[in-house]
Amino acid sequence: MSNAILPVYGPSEVVFERGEGVRLFDSNGRGYLDFIAGIAVNSLGHAHPALVRALSEQAGKLWHVSNMYRIPGQERLAQRYADLTFADRVFFTNSGAEAIEASIKIARRYHWSRGEPERIKILSFTGSFHGRTYAGINAGGQDKYREGFGPRMPGFETLPFGDHDALRQAVVQPDVAAVLIEPVQGEGGVRETPEACLRALRQLCSETGVLLIYDEVQCGAGRTGQLFHYQWVDGAEPDILAAAKGIGGGFPMGACLATEAAASGMAKGVHGSTFGGGPLAMAVGNAVLDILSEDGFLEGVRRVSSTFTQGLESLRDRYPDLVLKVTGRGLLRGLKLSFDPVVLRGELAERGLLVGSAGDQVLRLAPPLIVTDDDVLEAVRIIDDALSAEARARAAGGGA
Ligand SMILES: *Cc1c(COP(=O)(O)O)cnc(C)c1O
Repeated sequence: MSNAILPVYGPSEVVFERGEGVRLFDSNGRGYLDFIAGIAVNSLGHAHPALVRALSEQAGKLWHVSNMYRIPGQERLAQRYADLTFADRVFFTNSGAEAIEASIKIARRYHWSRGEPERIKILSFTGSFHGRTYAGINAGGQDKYREGFGPRMPGFETLPFGDHDALRQAVVQPDVAAVLIEPVQGEGGVRETPEACLRALRQLCSETGVLLIYDEVQCGAGRTGQLFHYQWVDGAEPDILAAAKGIGGGFPMGACLATEAAASGMAKGVHGSTFGGGPLAMAVGNAVLDILSEDGFLEGVRRVSSTFTQGLESLRDRYPDLVLKVTGRGLLRGLKLSFDPVVLRGELAERGLLVGSAGDQVLRLAPPLIVTDDDVLEAVRIIDDALSAEARARAAGGGA
């Protein structure tokens, strides 16, 4: 392995050469069922013909012109996201962290432009993850990502996840600009925020004039069975929403969606990106949305999700000492284990199933949205085999 790479990653030894649908193939030709999908990115699987076509066609015409010029694909995709969501305005980025940056800037600028420049504070929650930029780690609810990077930026406060009293006290502070929340926490342990809490949070924000920002970088793009997760919950629309990962299907892109009112502080020259919203990303982004918004596609996601849920619940029933809880929603799921998920992750890869892990001893599962019932049943069977081996090893006294 090359040692010229900054040592911030710890990749496993396997090298993948190609992918097709839900499967990845390594350099020895061995196939794997991909239930992590580049961390919830390959929403339509690998080498989807429609995405390959969109990208190749655009690649032969025009790659980049910058936002000095109009980009028709960008205008079209912005309008489509506006038509399909709460949003009136869309800003395109290259990543999730940049979509968070845009969200925070839009929120602060909103208050500034209304004559309340002191309202800068972003409230977030423990366990949350909002990307690795400087603002992202300051907004994020995990101290470890800030360690060694200087003092905490002013204007950020982390509240205990699920502590309604703390939230009610914090939100009325006169310097609060916005509440930033992942409707389903990914990295932090695949934790869903109860729908009643999202509704109450929306109400609290409306009462106090605080903007509500959803980080749907991981749980959006159809992953929980709606185009965006908030669409499950009546009366809980955000003012601003950050998206990325799955909306590009594997091509780097993100988006910040906002209402006309929330975006009212933004004007020419106030924010920007050299690459954001470029022709290649927009060609792929439109092709991804063609499929996500196809009649019946999200119903299909919900149907296969329910098969997946039953399978995962059966694992918890069969191995109550190993699997403590099934978490998450739709095709963003967690198995909270009584032991280190990284150990099980290795065992599963040996058996041909790729999964991830998350905080709080959780095995993270995020397959492409095109998985079939057979795929999820196969994945559940492989996990069952690995858990059964773990249980036997423990019974023999050799368990970890
Ligand atoms: C991955 C992720 C981000 C950061 O996205 P990048 O594309 O890695 O910058 C932000 N928020 C959430 C919830 C994420 O899962």
